[in-house]
Amino acid sequence: MKTSPKIKSETAIFKEKVYALADEVLNILKELHHEHKQQIDSKLIAEKMFDKEFVKKVLADHGPEVSNREKFDPLRDTVATVLNKFSELVPPSMMNDLSELKGEHLSKTIPEDSTEWLDSAIKIIKTYFNSVTNRINELEDLLQKTAYFLSKTEEYLASELSSAHEDFKENRDFENSIFTNISEMKQTVDISDDVNSIKRVVFNKIENINKNIEKKKELDILRLKENEKSLEELSRKMSELKSEAEAMKNRTQDAELESLHDNLTGLYNRKAYNQKVTETLANLERYNVSSSLLVCDIDFFKKINDTFGHHIGDLVLTKIAQLFKDKVRKNDFIARYGGEEFIIILPHTPVEGAREAGEKIRSFIEKTKFSFKGKEVPVTISIGISIFKKEDDATTAFERADKALYLAKRSGRNMIKTEADIEKDK
Ligand code: GH3
Ligand code: MG
Ligand code: MG
Repeated sequence: MKTSPKIKSETAIFKEKVYALADEVLNILKELHHEHKQQIDSKLIAEKMFDKEFVKKVLADHGPEVSNREKFDPLRDTVATVLNKFSELVPPSMMNDLSELKGEHLSKTIPEDSTEWLDSAIKIIKTYFNSVTNRINELEDLLQKTAYFLSKTEEYLASELSSAHEDFKENRDFENSIFTNISEMKQTVDISDDVNSIKRVVFNKIENINKNIEKKKELDILRLKENEKSLEELSRKMSELKSEAEAMKNRTQDAELESLHDNLTGLYNRKAYNQKVTETLANLERYNVSSSLLVCDIDFFKKINDTFGHHIGDLVLTKIAQLFKDKVRKNDFIARYGGEEFIIILPHTPVEGAREAGEKIRSFIEKTKFSFKGKEVPVTISIGISIFKKEDDATTAFERADKALYLAKRSGRNMIKTEADIEKDK
């Protein structure tokens, strides 16, 4: 069978090339011998061969697989570069999926049809896009929750801070801890790219803030209880003090009343009389208006005691005291000076008025019938009157009235005498 001239010439060309290649091998062996290479192997020869221009040309003409690979390698490299860039961008949570996809993609034998490559690349981009969308949604959700929480915290803080002034330091600490947590949280949101790590940090911080709020609430309740307790204690002590003070006031008032009053008749006593004189003299000094002093003494009282008994004597004293009270004005002052002697001070009353008032009392007592066991008890009084002078004291004013009284006694009893009468009597 005859070969075609075209095939013959191709075979001839191929043979020529083989001879030429053999020549190149021989040349290389010579070179290596010349370079005194001890160990010569096929790898060494092959490396030298690839440097030869002729060999390069032969390979270019006869190596379709090699030239194909050269054509597709840049595409593989580009895809690998793109995927690596994605790896830098995607969050750690997506890294596993991506590396799997990348490995699968790069290990595939390069297909004739490049649309399969495109599909693969689109799949990766879609996965990445979905992950980014999810991540944005998650972030939005997280930020919404955080914003809500922060506004609640703010409300709580506002009400807390306005209510308690004395808890200033504690509130400062509490506030600081909240703000530290919040600012750390913000920082984390700013610098991190990973939703899970943001979530973790934010929820940790929220948990911290919640713990702080709980702690503060507990403290507040505790303090409130303590305050209530001490308030109760305080108010208990206050009411104790109040009733003690009240009792003390009553005791003082009782003592004062006692010290100024006469037990038998309930009228003022001599001590009260002394005080009243001081007041009367002060008024005289200030308003220059006369006041008078009446000293009243029961006539022959000793005889009453002797005839009817001491007890009846006491009753007579009590009865006379009541009559005095009934007959004088509200502003007038009555005291039991001692024994059966009484004193009446009539403020703003000159001697005429005093005589008139004294006469009313004297005559009323004279007309009043005292009796015991069917027997009449004769009771009359004598009165001596003096008018207060600016230079007087309790004793001098009394002494003048007492002298007038003595004159009334001497003059027959059951009558009134004034200090002016003493002068007339002289
Ligand atoms: P005169 O008219 O001169 O005043 O005579 P009189 O008897 O009233 O005066 P005297 O001073 O001689 O006597 C007063 C008596 O009053 C003596 C005393 O025992 C009595 N007496 C003093 N205080 C009380 C008292 O509180 N109760 C009773 N029952 N008698 C008293
Ligand atoms: Mg007397
Ligand atoms: Mg008397």
